[in-house]
Amino acid sequence: MALAVELIAIDSTNGNETVVAECLAAYLSANGVESELIAREPARANLVARIPGTGDGPSLAFVGHSDVVPADPRDWTHPPFAAVIDDTGYLWGRGAVDMKNEVAARAAAMASLARAGWRGTGDLLLVVVADEEDGSAFVGMNWLVDERPDLATTYALNEGGGFPFALVDGRRVVEVSIGEKGTCPVRVDAIGEAGHASTPTLGDNAVPLLGRLLARLGQGVAEPLDHPAVRVMLESLLGDGAVERLGLVEALRQACALHPTLAESLPAVAGTTMAPTLLHGSTARNVMPARAGVELDCRILPGTTEAEVLDAVRLRLGDEVAYELSLAEPAVHGNASVAEGPLWDVVRDWSLATLGAQMFPTLCSGFTDSVYLRRSFGTVAYGFSPFSTTPTEVVEAGYHNADERIHIDDIALSADFHTHAARTLLG
Ligand SMILES: [Zn+2]
Repeated sequence: MALAVELIAIDSTNGNETVVAECLAAYLSANGVESELIAREPARANLVARIPGTGDGPSLAFVGHSDVVPADPRDWTHPPFAAVIDDTGYLWGRGAVDMKNEVAARAAAMASLARAGWRGTGDLLLVVVADEEDGSAFVGMNWLVDERPDLATTYALNEGGGFPFALVDGRRVVEVSIGEKGTCPVRVDAIGEAGHASTPTLGDNAVPLLGRLLARLGQGVAEPLDHPAVRVMLESLLGDGAVERLGLVEALRQACALHPTLAESLPAVAGTTMAPTLLHGSTARNVMPARAGVELDCRILPGTTEAEVLDAVRLRLGDEVAYELSLAEPAVHGNASVAEGPLWDVVRDWSLATLGAQMFPTLCSGFTDSVYLRRSFGTVAYGFSPFSTTPTEVVEAGYHNADERIHIDDIALSADFHTHAARTLLG
């Protein structure tokens, strides 16, 4: 797939995205699709291409990001921007799975529709944005949604799903991401009394007090919450009514037993996680501090409030040790789309027919730009770009890691899916 090779060969490490937008614009133009480059900063252009609809039917956006995370060539089998295709058909390079593969597939689908003279009843858009991996520069999707209200579409397909796997009971499922969790970092400070470190029993050193709080926090695994997205995940695996029938905890246990990947991923998206990460102790070795703190990287379900997060942390900490809680940073809330409706049906029917897999709706534990599309436009946005040849372990190991790679057949497969989705959804 020449376009994917060309895109991966561009070093668009967060901050240098215009080259990708120009490459895509040239490719689309050669296939009869005009596009615009929309930039707040010259080196960081976003691309918007459109095949206008013939009427007022539903509209669909193919979404992607053009930036990649940094890569250290010393860690790689093939240089990260060489875009090598090996003898077995794997395309290697930074962005091979996150997400120039998907950008190439979506652009190729749009190009093939244009070459065939296709027009939908509503608009088909390709929106490829800068600065997804960081987002703090405010030049990518978070800026674009305010700048360009005409990017509101009924539906969107973005990154975050498409991995099929076999459950222990023999069923085959494929992940489709229906939403994203948010973040709400919390700081916990154990409160003691300062003292001279030469005499440990003087005062009330806050560091061992913090140790007791850390023991109560453990790894910060979530208590499962009865939440619509959690129900839809569990019931897709265990059948309708499973949460009522089994209770939430038992339903989660049974779902986790269906695959080793689920045993890790499901508890992480079933409630508020609170992983302890940053530590704050004394500023001098010979001073036992009156306060010692830890920051918890809390990840929250759509709709969970800051007050609910603080309550969940208090419940975990108990009342044996004095502490104070504060928000380390303002919360960033995620959101989700419903796992039903015309786009859902298209993905479900295609997956069953082509991958032999039933849908497994999940929440992304990280972040994608779909959050902005749902928040600003109410778009029904899913993360889905199918893989079939590349093993799921290879895909998942590639994210932000060395030796990111994808089998080129999967780029063609994804392009086929997107062509089908546009034709079916937009008529
Ligand atoms: Zn990505």
